Amino acid sequence: MGRLYVADVTLFDGTRVRRHAGVLVQDGVVRWVGSHVRAPREVRGAERLDGAGTFLTPGLADVHVHLCFDGEPDFVAEARVSEATAAIKSVGNARRHLAAGVTTVRDLGGPGAVACDVARAIDDGRVAGPRVVASGQALTISGGHGWNSFARQVDGPDAVRRAVREQLRAGARSIKIVATGGVLTPGVSVDFTAFTFDEVAAAVDEAHTWNVPIAAHAIGRTGIANCVRAGIDSIEHGCQIDAGLMREMKERGTFHVPTISALRGIADHPETVPDYAVAKARQVLEEAEAAFRRGVREGQRFACGTDAGTPYNPHGSAPLEVVRMVEWGLPPMRALQAATSNAAALLRRSDVGAIEVGRAADMVFYSADPLDDPHALLEPALVCKGGDAVAP
Ligand SMILES: [Zn+2]
Repeated sequence: MGRLYVADVTLFDGTRVRRHAGVLVQDGVVRWVGSHVRAPREVRGAERLDGAGTFLTPGLADVHVHLCFDGEPDFVAEARVSEATAAIKSVGNARRHLAAGVTTVRDLGGPGAVACDVARAIDDGRVAGPRVVASGQALTISGGHGWNSFARQVDGPDAVRRAVREQLRAGARSIKIVATGGVLTPGVSVDFTAFTFDEVAAAVDEAHTWNVPIAAHAIGRTGIANCVRAGIDSIEHGCQIDAGLMREMKERGTFHVPTISALRGIADHPETVPDYAVAKARQVLEEAEAAFRRGVREGQRFACGTDAGTPYNPHGSAPLEVVRMVEWGLPPMRALQAATSNAAALLRRSDVGAIEVGRAADMVFYSADPLDDPHALLEPALVCKGGDAVAP
């Protein structure tokens, strides 16, 4: 692979904006970033991409997806397919992320080790897709949320610890626990507290021993509190984060992944989504917006996650999630950080999430400035992964 020089572009590097910037890529990695007029000698002879009038961001990240699911109205019904079918769906969904400018995703649960195998297939170049940080199956209590779709059932701290090890052995590079009830499982209320504190603590300790991030599906207040105090890395959904919990999260550096797209997809489609799910989504939507807006005011650390694969929430919707975070009051700069540098920090990936020396050249070009209007993110002009053009 040769050298590529991006000349005179408006660059959002993951943290801040630099105008009239230059970016030199070699062998798929960023080798130099600076002011275009000070470009080093090595840019001569490099393939040149004129960036004038265009806006460049790091490849976007979606830290909450379910690759095995297409987003059909009945999530539980969709889980009843063979693992082979789930793998085929995942390959298609991986391409949808790339087309949207999403070059890193974290999968937070599906059948068996399918997402782990898909992650390996992409790394090996057998199929196209974003970098996948897979969790394998999520962990849930017996009869808990997800037991009949994306999670395995496990009870007691020792068993939880063993289950974490088994997920890692199967190829997981992230762990997901289901700490409370959820919208998409009938018979379990959303704010039901599932795992005990000791079970959560065992999972967190084991994941961190292996240096992998651990995420908690957590909607209800008590479940969120258990997870935050056990040292979880991210609260997914987090609809009932109150002022006190938010302060604790800020002190500990816990990320909030609001997954607005998931709630919208369910609440906005009462004609086809099962009634129990619509009712629960509508129940928490107001609380979710209030918790998010409080986080905006108080400087909460957000990461962008869509929960893609849930009803009417297709893969490749991270740009739309950014738009939705801005609609709920997050300044565009912070929303873009949530989808780039914050996401990489949450995933413990120092190789992506920023356009800086030594990181992978995952880059997305836009013809309009998403900081002026985040809708610009919905139409990427060019997507590169590891320096290679992969979409459109
Ligand atoms: Zn999810």
